[in-house]
Amino acid sequence: MKIVVVGAGIVGASAAFHLTELGAEVYFVDSNTPGRATFAGAGIVCPWLSQNRDPRYEELSFAAVRYYPELIARLSTAGETGVDYDLVGGLVVADSVQQLDSVVRRLQEHLEHGVKEIGQVRVLPIGGPKELFPYLDSRLAGVHLSGAARVTGEPLRMALLNAALKAGAVQLSGTAALERSGNAVVGVRVDDEIVSAGAVIVAAGAWSADLCRPLNLRLEVEPQRGQILHLRVSEANTEALPVIVPVLSDYYLLGFHESRVVMGATRETGSGFDFRITAGGVAEVLQEGLRLAPGLNTATLAEIRVGFRPISKDGLPLLGRPWSTPGLVIATGLGRYGLTVGPFAGLLAAKLALGEATEINVAGFEPDRNSAE
Ligand SMILES: Cc1cc2nc3c(=O)[nH]c(=O)nc-3n(C[C@H](O)[C@H](O)[C@H](O)COP(=O)(O)OP(=O)(O)OC[C@H]3O[C@@H](n4cnc5c(N)ncnc54)[C@H](O)[C@@H]3O)c2cc1C
Repeated sequence: MKIVVVGAGIVGASAAFHLTELGAEVYFVDSNTPGRATFAGAGIVCPWLSQNRDPRYEELSFAAVRYYPELIARLSTAGETGVDYDLVGGLVVADSVQQLDSVVRRLQEHLEHGVKEIGQVRVLPIGGPKELFPYLDSRLAGVHLSGAARVTGEPLRMALLNAALKAGAVQLSGTAALERSGNAVVGVRVDDEIVSAGAVIVAAGAWSADLCRPLNLRLEVEPQRGQILHLRVSEANTEALPVIVPVLSDYYLLGFHESRVVMGATRETGSGFDFRITAGGVAEVLQEGLRLAPGLNTATLAEIRVGFRPISKDGLPLLGRPWSTPGLVIATGLGRYGLTVGPFAGLLAAKLALGEATEINVAGFEPDRNSAE
């Protein structure tokens, strides 16, 4: 079966890779529009303390974490060894150990329910977090969980696409529009070229609603701008630092390669596709980030990235086949957790496109669930 994937962020790249593994004839197309979330994303993989406690979402995001090591191994078998995914552990910090009680309780509940990927949970007294992440304020206490990971979006995206290309996928560049016949989607148009297909997967991130609008299909997903700062420090081995997970505060820190520490990020709902770095956005992140980690005061500002998170209205992904439009699969709306959930969501989208059974039930994520309102 021939399948076209629109969008080659983390979700589309994963869908393309898995489709080739499942034996499909695969075309993928990307517009390279500025603001791809996968490029800007921080890459914290730690969904167990998410504000979204919907059981369907927990099932999806926890399964996504479980799938990561298997995916990395499969990419490695395909010769893609440059994936930057590391189990660096995570730290939740607070002004006192008492403030962390609810965090510890929640992690323990998950562990009791068998979520062993969380790893070991340790409470650290005041000063403990700084021993693990030397830029932090020495007055912070923390909880350390050994199972949190860090992934860099772009190398993983490229590894998935390269593996798909090696397996015969065809890459197209440009902005795709959906081609239909009656109610059904039957392919895409890219510039003047029409590519017909048995199914089309829309994995166009925050742009997915625009893409589906001509079908009279209303997708409740919109861009949320995130501005994220890359600082350069004088120390090496920054990639081994644990991630400072945003739980009691909205802000976070993590180490990247090449002496970079990443500080994030703004969450600008209603931003539209305004791809600008703003003084207010940078000031907000610096103020909150340096409050957590005053040791970064002397770091230099190496880069500022801007990305549009695909945010759904109700916080749940849009993942499934819209009932009104045969031939179409939607895979987006992963919001703040798209680098965590995206690779697994791409696998599920590939199976949906081929009419195969999925690893978990995607009921509840119907992409047109709000269209009757
Ligand atoms: C600042 C920031 C920090 C983040 N931190 C984390 C984190 O720590 N952990 C985590 O799990 N997630 C994080 N995320 C979220 C994560 O990055 C996103 O949810 C995820 O990358 C979304 O992937 P995607 O493939 O759906 O969309 P995208 O990566 O945005 O890709 C969509 C692609 O579709 C293409 N496209 C759009 N329209 C068309 C068209 N008509 N034709 C062809 N191509 C088209 C675009 O060019 C783009 O390449 C963060 C995001 C941001 C912005």
